[in-house]
Amino acid sequence: ATPTAVMVATGVGANHGVLIKGGDALERAQKIKYVILDKTGTLTQGKATVTDVKVVTGMGRGEFLRWVASAEASSEHPLAKAIVEYARHFHSFDEPPATNDGQTPSKGSTISGWLLDVSDFLAHPGSGVKCLIDGKRILVGNRKLMTESGIAIPDQVENFVVKLEESAKTGVLVAFDDNIIGVLGIADPLKREAAVVIEGLLKMGVKPVMVTGDNWRTARAVAKEVGIQDVRAEVMPAGKADVIQSFQKDGSIVAMVGDGINDSPALAAADVGMAIGAGTDIAIEAADYVLMRNNLEDVITAIDLSRKTFSRIR
Ligand code: ADP
Ligand code: MG
Repeated sequence: ATPTAVMVATGVGANHGVLIKGGDALERAQKIKYVILDKTGTLTQGKATVTDVKVVTGMGRGEFLRWVASAEASSEHPLAKAIVEYARHFHSFDEPPATNDGQTPSKGSTISGWLLDVSDFLAHPGSGVKCLIDGKRILVGNRKLMTESGIAIPDQVENFVVKLEESAKTGVLVAFDDNIIGVLGIADPLKREAAVVIEGLLKMGVKPVMVTGDNWRTARAVAKEVGIQDVRAEVMPAGKADVIQSFQKDGSIVAMVGDGINDSPALAAADVGMAIGAGTDIAIEAADYVLMRNNLEDVITAIDLSRKTFSRIR
């Protein structure tokens, strides 16, 4: 392709909100064989919502949510934000919202005054958070966080978490003084276009793969919904780049689509890194493409544009 063709393609991309960082990235995109997609915030809307609250001790829901939200208030994780948001609604109405439509309650809420003081806060990327509140050790996170801290998960709780996961939700466990006191179920709906885009990639001869830090059962349920066969779950943040490299071993050109800080090593490792949506600055920096509209259709637009610009004889 001539420099003019590259310039034109860059302009066409920009009109679709597809920012291409250079001609090399534009050229590599035509040869993409695998597209590795992050789950949370990439395939899903990234609008996590608490759908279930189960307290397994005598503690009231309000008190339970107060402990959990206090522990999660310092976390930047989307699950933490969903929990704090839910607790805020609960606190301002003193009952759970019938539907969570993301609307701010009209009644003023002062959650910061309601939250408890936290010390020794520690975020464990890929598993959850730990802290001390009023001399009690609070843990909020997945099974791995609990098991690694020597906390047993009662059968009743495990069964409930399995049910959540089978319906594509994430179960968040809560331990208080080394005992599980409850579980929250969190749902994050798929992006509207997700399934159509996966079908489109397959038609183009590109293989979609989902990668996530979330658990296997939830990951499989989401993958099934969206039509992805190949799933890599329970991948720790540093492991996403290793997944990319495993697909590159035979010389295949691999694209990564992601939005989070967790995804930036993988975006950098990929032959074509695509940061999607508002994304984090660090993800945008690590990427070759920025898909500004936060729409997965632009993954196809990007590949199409490259194929047309460099139209090879196939
Ligand atoms: P993803 O790749 O889907 O963005 P992460 O690597 O960020 O996932 O997190 C993996 C898992 O770790 C989550 O699904 C959740 O179970 C747990 N986790 C991480 N941070 C938190 C938190 N602040 N509160 C509760 N659970 C958490
Ligand atoms: Mg993500």
